[in-house]
Amino acid sequence: MDIIHLLSDTIANQIAAGEVVQRPASVVKELMENAMDAEASTVKLIIKDSGKALVQVVDNGKGMSVTDSRMSFERHATSKISKSEDLFAIRTMGFRGEALASIAAVAQVEVKTKREEDELGTLLTIEGSEVKNQEPISTAKGTSIMVKNLFFNVPARRKFLKSNPVEMKHILDEFQRICLANPEVTFELYHNDIEIYKLPGAKLSKRIVDLFGKSYREQLAGCEEDTPYVSISGYVGKPESAKKTRGDQYFFINNRYIKSPYLHHAVTMAFEGTIPEKHYPFYVLNISISPAHVDINIHPQKTEIKFEDEKAVYSILRSAVRQAIGVYNLTPTIDFES
Ligand code: ADP
Ligand code: MG
Repeated sequence: MDIIHLLSDTIANQIAAGEVVQRPASVVKELMENAMDAEASTVKLIIKDSGKALVQVVDNGKGMSVTDSRMSFERHATSKISKSEDLFAIRTMGFRGEALASIAAVAQVEVKTKREEDELGTLLTIEGSEVKNQEPISTAKGTSIMVKNLFFNVPARRKFLKSNPVEMKHILDEFQRICLANPEVTFELYHNDIEIYKLPGAKLSKRIVDLFGKSYREQLAGCEEDTPYVSISGYVGKPESAKKTRGDQYFFINNRYIKSPYLHHAVTMAFEGTIPEKHYPFYVLNISISPAHVDINIHPQKTEIKFEDEKAVYSILRSAVRQAIGVYNLTPTIDFES
């Protein structure tokens, strides 16, 4: 007797969900990235019980048609790429078409969405990959996705969630990264009906101060470097503001938050001799590079990245940071108002 059979979509989606959705913060990341890709200018994140009861993202972006809203929950369904060459020219945050399918496999999801040109929007309810209801509704332009009771149907995974403070910390990390990568966008965050952040769209310097506190006003040194291969922009903390605890340190490649011990080393080397040992500088650095020169396709969480010419990025970054901390007292005061 033959024993091989195809897995059902439900099981396939649950397995895929294991890659994409580790915890409520993964849902926050995926939904907020989708809002960015939909070109939203205002994004509201609503959390209940550290995301265990609810993660909701409300955006004023493009919205979806009736059919697209249904399609968006299919696995490998995306509007962002279509042919393999597109993989080397990715300018969007998403492209795998897996997030919504994965989330809907392990949660109760309610979507409201409407495009500008449509009179009525769509309300769609999905539970464990199963569509429960779809009907027209009147709603504002944009998309609201509620993700309730994450892992309600996978008790073993739900049990692995950490305490509420730990899960909330992960959510805050994801939220802050996306706020830093998109300073021109207005963001709000509510946890159990309490306002945590209300961040008006602004320049990066003001966004940093709004997120981390007024003390940062005096501490930022602008960092800019333009070469044909890569452009660097952002801020580093002046050497005297370096902390004993690992400060907040952020790299973004084409708007995508990444972890890079190698590039971190470049920044550390630039600070060499200016800060005491075991002190860590603050930085928020955006690296713009042609998508053809990076591969973001290596990890589903996409916080790692492969550069075609890592060494070039390293040395340009180090010299940019050196210059920033060498001449910061000569640059005009940063304007925090706009
Ligand atoms: P990906 O982002 O990789 O394309 P997702 O599963 O996250 O995959 O989303 C599937 C599709 O659903 C997206 O390609 C997009 O067309 C649509 N979509 C998801 N979220 C939104 C949103 N907030 N606004 C508009 N369209 C959305
Ligand atoms: Mg996505």
